[in-house]
Amino acid sequence: METASIGRARKLARKLLKDSGCNSTPIMLRDIISYLRNESGLECGSLELSDAVSGFLIEDEDVTAIGYNGSHHVHRQRFSVAHEIGHFMLSHNTQRKDDINKTDADPIHETEANAFAAELLMPLELLKKDLKGNINIPDIAKKYWVSEEAMARRFQDPAVLKYV
Ligand SMILES: [Zn+2]
Repeated sequence: METASIGRARKLARKLLKDSGCNSTPIMLRDIISYLRNESGLECGSLELSDAVSGFLIEDEDVTAIGYNGSHHVHRQRFSVAHEIGHFMLSHNTQRKDDINKTDADPIHETEANAFAAELLMPLELLKKDLKGNINIPDIAKKYWVSEEAMARRFQDPAVLKYV
């Protein structure tokens, strides 16, 4: 049985941060998107989508693009875009709008894309410094432009907990 490769997802997120020159908080997805547009022709745009849809990735011969729900909270938009970048970087799909129909999404791919997104928006290297003497989740979440829920989830990672 295939299992999720969290380590590979995190490694790819760290490489992308490095390659796109993102090394301080908050992580500016705009810079990452513009790097990927230059490197791979990836387009990214906000769309009017039904509330149940956070975002999707389309890859076909003509276009490689991420669409995300522009009416969701900005924190959720950021996580959705980072998640879809994860699918793209991990070569998960072609022409598969996985998040449009959750039941069709491969749970292993979803786990990997979420691990990628968490590392991209809340990189361990930056968290290590910020966690020194500070475990106020709302404050840290604000600094990283992520939801408190996403930051709280990040704290469940033993690698992060080590530095608390
Ligand atoms: Zn997904």
